[in-house]
Amino acid sequence: MQPLAFSIGWKVGTAILLKFGANLEGALLLAIELQDTDTVAMILETDCPLSVHAVWGGTEGPSLLHYADAHCPFNQKIRDIIVKRFVRDMRCIRDLALEALSQEEQESLGLHLLDDTMVLDEKVFEVGQALGRHNIRLPHHLWTGNGCHRSIYGHLSSVWPGNGYHGSTYGKTSLESNECGPTIRDTLYDNGFRSVDARDEGGNTPLYKECRPFTSEVHWDVIKWFLDKGGSPRYHDDTGRLRSGIHGLAKTFSMRSEQFASPCERILQQVSERCGATSLDDCRCYCSSYGCIPVAVVSKGTRLDRGSATVLEWLRLTNITPVQREVCYAEVCRAELFGRLGMAHTCCHSHQFDPITDNDLKEGSEWRELRDEDFELSEALDAYLKLYNDLRKEHAGSLSSFWDGWWQVIDILLPLGKDKGELAYYTARKKKLKTY
Ligand SMILES: [Zn+2]
Ligand SMILES: [Zn+2]
Repeated sequence: MQPLAFSIGWKVGTAILLKFGANLEGALLLAIELQDTDTVAMILETDCPLSVHAVWGGTEGPSLLHYADAHCPFNQKIRDIIVKRFVRDMRCIRDLALEALSQEEQESLGLHLLDDTMVLDEKVFEVGQALGRHNIRLPHHLWTGNGCHRSIYGHLSSVWPGNGYHGSTYGKTSLESNECGPTIRDTLYDNGFRSVDARDEGGNTPLYKECRPFTSEVHWDVIKWFLDKGGSPRYHDDTGRLRSGIHGLAKTFSMRSEQFASPCERILQQVSERCGATSLDDCRCYCSSYGCIPVAVVSKGTRLDRGSATVLEWLRLTNITPVQREVCYAEVCRAELFGRLGMAHTCCHSHQFDPITDNDLKEGSEWRELRDEDFELSEALDAYLKLYNDLRKEHAGSLSSFWDGWWQVIDILLPLGKDKGELAYYTARKKKLKTY
């Protein structure tokens, strides 16, 4: 145990030891654990070095915020003290940059856009590098370290339950609410951390990641918060790959639809409206016309039964227009026929072709091979879809009555689970679907 740790709870002793440069390692964490607000404040008011992990968290340990969140999740005072220290450090680095960097450099780093209510946040790493080019090394206590070119929100959300430093016993991430008072993210935002849309090394924003929990819990309050703060659920990453939050939620819905019960409907609709209810991802697969639309992602994730209850529930929840409904049904129809024909996916439905996996895989040799193998079946699929669209145009009744009639015919032509590929192909080609 460090000498300073013995002085915790004894203000005068702490002050003396701090004055003489006592080693703070350990003492700070112990003071947080004991919720000794005064000692935490005294230590953080000094220029004690905070390692990169202390500020931003990292692979080797929790950030101070994670640590406080795990050990005293309701202690707003301690949280405020920690965030204030982060703000102070960020301001010091900014002031150094304003003094040392040319006007041009400042503008290219966006420093002219920071007003007094904002702090550097994810810019801190680039600023540190720019200062380095001027041979200015930041003092040890301001060291920004390598790899912290992410916003603090990205770091907080990257720590997931199960590794010991998320929101303690609550099974929540550090960005989620544990209580009724301000959350960590509110405290950070109110203190000037505004980089809500900063991307991690993989090109993900915190909001995009929150939209893809899949089999884990959906943190609706976190999603809502990022939306309210102007976070974008749909964007292109630096490599040009499209990221779409509504597609992530659609996949999650196909796995755990029970998490989408009221009152999250409004939040889901907001994501859907911002991304587009019939917006495309950048997949290329015969299962979709031009890319997957969200409802097709739902239908592919559920068992094939001509637009299951899950699909209908998704359409209800996302509150689509009648025109969008026509598009959705046609794409669900295509995805279902694709499945009945026994074709292989080359889209996000297959994990290896997920848009955020390696791009080489996505349109690489295996991808091409699968496309070639299914080419003839794809012609049969197109013939079915043409028939669907032609009949739909002629049909005067409602979409749902047409839908029921359509599947009665298809159940004869392309019965589920029977001699799929060949039968379907020859049925489609030989009869040319004319009799229907
Ligand atoms: Zn597909
Ligand atoms: Zn897709």
